[in-house]
Amino acid sequence: MDYKIATKCVQAGYTPKNGEPRILPIVQSTTYKYDSSEAMGDLFDLKASGYFYTRLQNPTNDYVAAKIAALEGGVAAMLTSSGQAANFYALFNLCSAGDHIVASSAIYGGTFNLIGVTMKKMGIETTFVNPRATAEELEAAFRPNTRAVFAETIANPALVVLDIEKFANAAHAHGVPLIVDNTFPTPINCRPFEFGADIVTHSTTKYMDGHATSVGGVIVDSGNFDWMAHADMFPGLTTPDDSYHGVNYAKDFGKAAFITKATAQIMRDLGSIQSPQNAFLINLGLETLALRMKQHCANAEKISAWLAADPRVSWVSYPALPDSPDYALAKKYMPNGTCGVISFGVKGGREAATRFMDALRLAAIVTHVADARTCVLHPASTTHRQLTDEQLVAGGISADLIRLSVGIEDADDIIADLDQALAKA
Ligand SMILES: *Cc1c(COP(=O)(O)O)cnc(C)c1O
Repeated sequence: MDYKIATKCVQAGYTPKNGEPRILPIVQSTTYKYDSSEAMGDLFDLKASGYFYTRLQNPTNDYVAAKIAALEGGVAAMLTSSGQAANFYALFNLCSAGDHIVASSAIYGGTFNLIGVTMKKMGIETTFVNPRATAEELEAAFRPNTRAVFAETIANPALVVLDIEKFANAAHAHGVPLIVDNTFPTPINCRPFEFGADIVTHSTTKYMDGHATSVGGVIVDSGNFDWMAHADMFPGLTTPDDSYHGVNYAKDFGKAAFITKATAQIMRDLGSIQSPQNAFLINLGLETLALRMKQHCANAEKISAWLAADPRVSWVSYPALPDSPDYALAKKYMPNGTCGVISFGVKGGREAATRFMDALRLAAIVTHVADARTCVLHPASTTHRQLTDEQLVAGGISADLIRLSVGIEDADDIIADLDQALAKA
C-alpha cells in the first residue's frame, strides 16, 4: 500500500508484529547473540542478513532509515552521526584519490570546507559551479575523472533553489550520479528523485529532528543509477571488494548496492554511526514533519511578505516570494512550500543589524536553523565577525544580512517581535 507522505511520516519504517511494542523500541545494545559460530560467520560474509555489531547495523537505526527512504521514495538508506558524515560518506562511497567532483558553490559552509579543503587533502578535487550556471557552463566543469555532482535543493544560507533536472541531465550525460542535499525542503516539500537526482542526503539535525535535540544525518539511494553501465568509472561498486571476501556490490546487491557498500565498507571503516537513542528522537520528529513543514512555510510566507513591505528592511530573500529570482524554480520543484528560512537586511548596516538582534525577545540568537523555535543569526557579528564589510560581500554575505529561521509559533507573535526590534534598530 503506497500511503501519502503525511501517513508515511507516522506509519512507515517500524511496523510491530503481534504482541510487539507499539512504539519504535530503542535497541541499546552494541552486540547480538547467535547460537553457532557458523550462523555468525554467514553474517560476516553478507550471506545472511541480521545484526552482529551496532557500528554496522542496529534495528532502531534501520527502522528510522527505512522511514526516511520511504519518505524520499528511495530503495534504501543509512543513518549517520551528522549531516557532515552523510555528505562525506555519500561522496567517498564513489570517489577516491585522483577523482573529481562538480559541486554547486552555494552550499552549507561546512560542506564547502569538507569538499574544498579536507577532501582535497585526500586527493579528491572539486570544481565549484554557480547553481544558476547555464548548461554550457556546467558542461565545462566536467573532467574525464569526474565521479559525482553535488548540490543543495535550497542552499543554506544563500537560499538559491537548484534546477534539479538541469544538474541531473548534466551529471547523467557524463555517466555520473547527482547527489542532492535535501535538508531545507525535506521530502515533504521536495523529492529530488522525482526529478532525476540519484542520491539524497540530509542533516537530520534540522527539520527532521525539528526540536534541536539530536545531531544526525542520512544517505538515501534511489536505486536508479546503473553502476554496471558505467562499470569502469565505479570500480568500488562493480569489482570484487577484497576487504569483504570479494563481494561485488553492484552484481550481488542490485539496487541496494550503494547503501550496502556505504554500510559494509565506509561505515565499517570510518564508524560515524547514529546512536539508537538519537535515532529514536529523530523518529519522534519525523512523525510530525508534515504538520510542522506546513506551519513553517505558512509562517515564513506571511513573515517574508511582511518584511518585504517594511521600509526599515532593505531587502528580503525567500524563494516563495513572487519577486524572488528563484520563484519559478520554487513553484516547479516545491509547489506546496519551500522552507522556513528567510534572509533579509536591516537598513543601517552592521550596527543596525546588531541592535535589531539584541532587541529580539521571542526569536533567539543561535547558530542553529530549522527547528520549531524561531531563531536568528547575524553572520557579520558572529560566525564571520573577523571579516571586513568588503570581505563579507566577496563571500556572498552582506554586513546587514540576518538569517531568520521561522519556527512554528503563531506568525503574529513573530511579526510583533520583529516589529518592536526593528523599531530599536
Ligand atoms: C547543517 C547542515 C549540514 C551539516 O549537518 P550537521 O548535522 O550539522 O553535521 C549539511 N547540509 C546542510 C544543508 C545543512 O544545513
